[in-house]
Amino acid sequence: MGSIVSPSNTPPIELLFLGTGTSSSIPHLDCLTAPPNRKPCLTCLSTLTPEGKKNIRRNTSAGSPHIRQGRQDNVGKNFQAAAVEWFPKYGLREIDAVIITHAHADAMNGLDDLRGWTLGGAIQTHIDVYVSQSTFHEVQRSFPYLVSKEFASGGGDVPDFEWHIIEDKVPFEIKDTGVQITPFIVHHGRLFATNPPPAFAPTPCTTQPTTPNLSGRSSPVRPLSGTCCSNAPPKIHPYLCFGFLIQDTIIYISDVSLIPDDTWALLESAKKPMPVLVLDCLRLRSHTSHMGVREAVATVRRLNPSRTYLTGFSHDISHDEYITIGKAAGGDGPKDTTHMSIMERRGTEMIREGKPVWIRPSHDGLRVFVSSDDSVIDETYD
Ligand SMILES: [Zn+2]
Ligand SMILES: [Zn+2]
Repeated sequence: MGSIVSPSNTPPIELLFLGTGTSSSIPHLDCLTAPPNRKPCLTCLSTLTPEGKKNIRRNTSAGSPHIRQGRQDNVGKNFQAAAVEWFPKYGLREIDAVIITHAHADAMNGLDDLRGWTLGGAIQTHIDVYVSQSTFHEVQRSFPYLVSKEFASGGGDVPDFEWHIIEDKVPFEIKDTGVQITPFIVHHGRLFATNPPPAFAPTPCTTQPTTPNLSGRSSPVRPLSGTCCSNAPPKIHPYLCFGFLIQDTIIYISDVSLIPDDTWALLESAKKPMPVLVLDCLRLRSHTSHMGVREAVATVRRLNPSRTYLTGFSHDISHDEYITIGKAAGGDGPKDTTHMSIMERRGTEMIREGKPVWIRPSHDGLRVFVSSDDSVIDETYD
């Protein structure tokens, strides 16, 4: 366990992992209730033991608690449970801002939970939420009451948000916190609709529809990709998602299948070495919408940050197995693979060749600290 060291009076930047699992979160009920004739899932079953607690993985979510009170990336389906576990433990209460990566349920369905902060001013009067134009449309389409109170029903108890539209590679500051964030686009799988849903419809050629962003100005509805007024056969469109460069100190990419060239240009022009990279790594094999071990380690070797914490895990690989694979990427794992599990051996063989890099799995509740001299420590690893 590391201690918090800051060489000056500047407080360290802190990153708290509230959730580190994929959309389904871990454990799977299917694995916990499997009949005896099925091969047991050791990762999920381990969550029932004290030794396996790091395999409990809620939807990916992270916060920077000590930049003022709290900033929050993503509020997924299990946000309420994560907040109940970690906010009291780490003395957290207010939320300065929520920044949403994309409009999947595991990234935004916890928005409704935020009524616990704003209803009757329980903790604060409102929460600032930063989203892309397309994510804003998707919230508006799925949960209109989260955008306009006129759509509330029942008792009308809805959370209070102030919405802010953010754009690719346009830095913004979170209110008066001094916290600078640069969003950037990555691919996160593909759109499956032949015709994109209304929220993603390309802008008509003749008129530019506008939508209020509730902060007083209107922004044009933007197409995600592609062109309109074409007789060409439908193309496969990538589903786009935001990653974030935070305070020129942390690169956070929780959901990614491919980093496009213009985003690589931004990342490679940032500080070197970047103190912290948080990177999606669903499982051993690659996936349509996520990186596997091979792509994740290749990305780390190209960016070469001081420390990389993988996130967004399925149940295929346990926390301890990820540690073995991470050590192998650093060239300090065991050379003898005889006693390794199948996943450790396959993962190690995938990434053994190449530049040594520091990679470890994040886990729910992990805290990472970056000092003003860019040194990085955390509470789990040496
Ligand atoms: Zn399982
Ligand atoms: Zn997603």
